[in-house]
Amino acid sequence: MGAHDTLFGLTFRDSPIGMAILDSGGHYVEVNSAFARTVGREPSALVGRHFGEFTHQDDLPRNVELMAKVGSGEVSYFQFHSRLLHRQGDTIWVRITISGVEAPEDPLGHHYVAQVEDVTEIRRARDLLERRALYDHLTGLANRTLLMDRLELALETHEPRAATVAAIFLDIDHFKTVNDSLGHDAGDTLLIELGRRLQAAVRSADTVARLGGDEFVVIVEDVMGEEAALAVTHGIVAALRRPFVVDGTEITPGVSAGLAMAEQGITAEALVRNADMAMYAAKQGGRDRVECYDESMRERARTKLSIESELRTAIRDGELVVHYQPVVDLETREIRAFEALVRWQHPQRGLLLPDEFIPISEDANLVIPLGAAVLHEACAFLAARPEYKGRVFVNVSTRQIGSADLTHVVKDALTTTGANPSQLGLEITESGMLMATAAARADLKALTELGCELILDDFGTGYSALSSVLQNPVSGLKLARDFTLRLGDRGTGDRISTAIATLTRSLDMYGVIEGIETEAQYAIARRHGWQLGQGFLFGHAQPASDITLGLPRPSDADDDASPAAAALR
Ligand code: C2E
Ligand code: MG
Ligand code: MG
Repeated sequence: MGAHDTLFGLTFRDSPIGMAILDSGGHYVEVNSAFARTVGREPSALVGRHFGEFTHQDDLPRNVELMAKVGSGEVSYFQFHSRLLHRQGDTIWVRITISGVEAPEDPLGHHYVAQVEDVTEIRRARDLLERRALYDHLTGLANRTLLMDRLELALETHEPRAATVAAIFLDIDHFKTVNDSLGHDAGDTLLIELGRRLQAAVRSADTVARLGGDEFVVIVEDVMGEEAALAVTHGIVAALRRPFVVDGTEITPGVSAGLAMAEQGITAEALVRNADMAMYAAKQGGRDRVECYDESMRERARTKLSIESELRTAIRDGELVVHYQPVVDLETREIRAFEALVRWQHPQRGLLLPDEFIPISEDANLVIPLGAAVLHEACAFLAARPEYKGRVFVNVSTRQIGSADLTHVVKDALTTTGANPSQLGLEITESGMLMATAAARADLKALTELGCELILDDFGTGYSALSSVLQNPVSGLKLARDFTLRLGDRGTGDRISTAIATLTRSLDMYGVIEGIETEAQYAIARRHGWQLGQGFLFGHAQPASDITLGLPRPSDADDDASPAAAALR
């Protein structure tokens, strides 16, 4: 092969692209080192061997056929993609350009020259792009595009019996808390695990998709009506709710689920939206539950949207008002504080209570301007009553703490009104306190440094250990109304009330019992050792203008032996 010492020979040897010369039977006559490297072998290990030994079985028949076409002169060259076998067992994707060489004077006679380029990386990148377009990169589940594709197909296939297709919309309760308190890596780990559990909880033909964030959708086919689909949903939820340890912290995910059954002519979009609405209803209903879609939900969703936009202007136009409910010393019935409770003076619907718009304001990120307005009002209430030495308690939503820089808002309200910080108490729910992230804790600490007090609201509803809640600088605690309703049951209700009243005192905090409506409850609360109380028995929440402070001022009662007077001074 003298020809190979020529320019061609040098090019062949040093080419960065793999090259091989094959005889008419398909055996390697000569290979360059680039080609040998591609398949992970020495050139000497290839020479004399048939190319079929190094070709993926599935590609071999086609490659033989293409070579025959080149060999017969039907075409002069061919370019194709094929898989080769690397010595280490991997499959390599290559692009082969093979041409036939008529060389009557060459001892080799008719032969082939092949150029072989490794395109594994390019193929991998392309596959990845394809996957990215259809699959969620974190969990590997289907993404929205693939979900909608599959759902459309399922709806088409089952058209005559549409009610055999169901969509289940799942949302993890308080997922943001995991992210905020344990970090994004922990959040990701949880999502991956939830994806696995979901996949394992359904049949392999069912589609499981992640829509982003903590939202998942499952499409179930061939299910016999709503009852059966509901059973499937409960099974899925049970699988997700198993405790899970991430970074040494045990988490039991709460799951809100919405179920919607397909009906004749429904689109994929509409079915998923119905399931989403049902999920929202589950959240509204207290989370961690399953709801089935019904027509009324659409109406409610519309109402919610209109409330949301109305609320935006209501805050701006000052339609929100603050009413004040007295908190009294249970011994003397003197007013020690007022709780500021927001109301919405709606031009058409009348006076709306917070339950009707606070949750919506939280979802729509309106609770921050709303909270700022209430704080401002409450401080103005204090500033306008210099003779009043008691406190005003203001409810604060978890979403106002940390990210929204509550300290800044409070400072602003105090300075513009001139109110005394020590008369301002901020009520934070037990769950809110528990969820406090590092940023939120700093916010809470800064607030106490301003001179404000923190009060734990609705205590007993969050099932938390008091110790974890008390990592924050808390001055007072309010027992949730649920327990007041159970006062006098001579059982758990009474035991919890007594225990918490005692605990509060021994921790040097003040305790407020909420929702006292009857003299009987009042008497029991006193017997249990509560110092302060709030409820319709002592007074409803009233507009500031209706409040007269004709009662003896706490400063007049300095010699008063009442422990509550001492606590709230
Ligand atoms: P909360 O902080 O537990 O407030 C006490 C609620 O119990 C008030 O309801 C009050 O009117 C009611 N209540 C007081 N005494 C009695 C009683 O004897 N019997 C009964 N059945 N109820 C009584 P309201 O004003 O409807 O407020 C509901 C919740 O809305 C509040 O619960 C609080 O969590 C939230 N909220 C109120 N104002 C604000 C605010 O300005 N910002 C935020 N973020 N939340 C607020
Ligand atoms: Mg409160
Ligand atoms: Mg409360």
